[in-house]
Amino acid sequence: MGQQKIHCSINNCHYWGEGNRCHAREIMVTSDSMGASLPDQLDALQASSVDAAPVESCMETCCKTFVEEGSENIDVDGITKI
Ligand code: SF4
Repeated sequence: MGQQKIHCSINNCHYWGEGNRCHAREIMVTSDSMGASLPDQLDALQASSVDAAPVESCMETCCKTFVEEGSENIDVDGITKI
């Protein structure tokens, strides 16, 4: 498998980099409602155990892996940078 290539313009995220590239080793996308209810500790590493969450448009999806640059919660989900 090749290196992941995720484009993202959320430039206050800890994983964001030049050229709008995401440098998280892996990310988890879920529904807005699921993202709001799951704990910060649960992220891509446990993604296979999360219930499916159908939505009707991109407006209802979110990046669960987002963490604000400088936040004290950067390491709680175990996600690292590539
Ligand atoms: S973790 Fe999510 S919000 Fe952060 S840069 Fe990557 S795709 Fe964007």
